[in-house]
Amino acid sequence: MTRHRVVIIGSGFGGLFAAKALKHADVDVTLIARTTHHLFQPLLYQVATGMLSEGDIAPATRELLRRHRNTTVLLGLVEDIDLANRVVKWRFHDDEKETPYDSLIVASGAGQSYFGNQHFSTFAPGMKTIDDALELRARIFNAFEVAEFTTDPDERRRLLTFVVVGAGPTGVEMAGQIRELAAGTLNNEFRSIDPAEARVILIDGADQVLPPFGPKLGAATQETLEDLGVEIILGALVTDLDGTSVTYKTKDGELHTIDSVCKVWAAGVQGSELGQVLADQSEATLDRAGRVVVDEDLSLPGHPEVFVVGDLMSVPGVPGVAQGAIQGARHAVKKIRARVEGAPDPGPFRYRDKGSMATISKFAAVAMIGKLRLTGFIAWVAWLFLHLLYIAGFKQRITTLVSWAITFISGGRAQRVVTNQQMVGRLALERLGARSSGKLFRGSTADEQPPGDK
Ligand SMILES: Cc1cc2nc3c(=O)[nH]c(=O)nc-3n(C[C@H](O)[C@H](O)[C@H](O)COP(=O)(O)OP(=O)(O)OC[C@H]3O[C@@H](n4cnc5c(N)ncnc54)[C@H](O)[C@@H]3O)c2cc1C
Repeated sequence: MTRHRVVIIGSGFGGLFAAKALKHADVDVTLIARTTHHLFQPLLYQVATGMLSEGDIAPATRELLRRHRNTTVLLGLVEDIDLANRVVKWRFHDDEKETPYDSLIVASGAGQSYFGNQHFSTFAPGMKTIDDALELRARIFNAFEVAEFTTDPDERRRLLTFVVVGAGPTGVEMAGQIRELAAGTLNNEFRSIDPAEARVILIDGADQVLPPFGPKLGAATQETLEDLGVEIILGALVTDLDGTSVTYKTKDGELHTIDSVCKVWAAGVQGSELGQVLADQSEATLDRAGRVVVDEDLSLPGHPEVFVVGDLMSVPGVPGVAQGAIQGARHAVKKIRARVEGAPDPGPFRYRDKGSMATISKFAAVAMIGKLRLTGFIAWVAWLFLHLLYIAGFKQRITTLVSWAITFISGGRAQRVVTNQQMVGRLALERLGARSSGKLFRGSTADEQPPGDK
């Protein structure tokens, strides 16, 4: 008799922790993800600003699960889920595959939302993947490089003006890091520019930075950022973006333009495209961010064998954070084990809020743990400890600790490599068309692409 087959989609917090929780279960697990790594997204901004290498925050999923004898890890892009026949359809470039399941855990997360202005992504990459972080690293460091040999003062000013859109944790962290990079790390390295003169502007539509952290921590964060030299524009909505400028509208309806070459998009999330795939075949609805409104046990309405966890699930009171994904994954596994092994049914999902934190700069952070509000150095130490704890992989913890020591003690950054591929790879692939990577992988040239793909 074949064992119960559990398929997990995604190797982020939801997917990885679901697989971990199934280690000793009497089931066969297949984890399918479109990358070979598990990604610790909270530290992507440190990859983008040269503090950490991509390997520090993205251990191989296969390695993390090597002792799970019941688990197979597959690299592939899931494009369809046939709910009626219980089959996941995926492909690796041109190779199309099907994997049947008895239980399914969908943990494909969320991408960046540009609120209907997808073309903004060309000029202001988001921060969701290793590709995003490396592209941003190339854009940030190259802006200084180009400014060094640019003689036109207007162009130089544009190159040394960095705009971060979105003042949530990611935007705050990025703005703080670019400013520290400019005023600290790059000190004394250039001859015709002073990197410390670089402007870093943080824009948000809300009236405070870090809105979910409340007014007190928001004000403390704003003060620390401003002390660092970050300019903050609140109550402003970005209405347009191009290669050299950002336009935003203030509450009085006035439009303003900032000349800037390097922009970072840190506003808005959009549930993975698999949410729509599930909604099309079930009674489930999607919320405004494209996340699946699940039943109270995290199953898909009408499909008790399918669970949606992590950033793709829409559950009132559960934020899109790592703990939401981890706890959701563990709950889904309990449900599956109850069904397969006769273990007690865990009932509805209950989220335990373990708090939120964000770093602002070296030695400064804010943290909200229950009723406790922390700022400054204590919050930063708490942040450091917790992030180290949750980075997957022993080797990654050690290398991260060493890289942090380099940066926090000397101000230097060990990961400043920038390649041409990082800078232009995504845009080049977009131009070639959706299926181009598969064709190129098989060794053909762009000339052999079908006309529709060019
Ligand atoms: C920049 C940034 C900073 C953050 N900082 C914090 C923080 O400080 N604290 C905190 O708690 N949370 C933070 N978060 C949020 C946290 O990282 C997410 O809530 C968490 O990663 C969600 O886990 P997930 O498994 O649902 O999705 P993800 O971690 O996004 O994983 C999704 C997985 O699905 C795969 N996938 C997607 N689509 C497909 C497909 N079609 N086929 C195959 N595989 C697919 C992806 O490759 C990935 O492996 C941050 C997020 C970002 C982006």
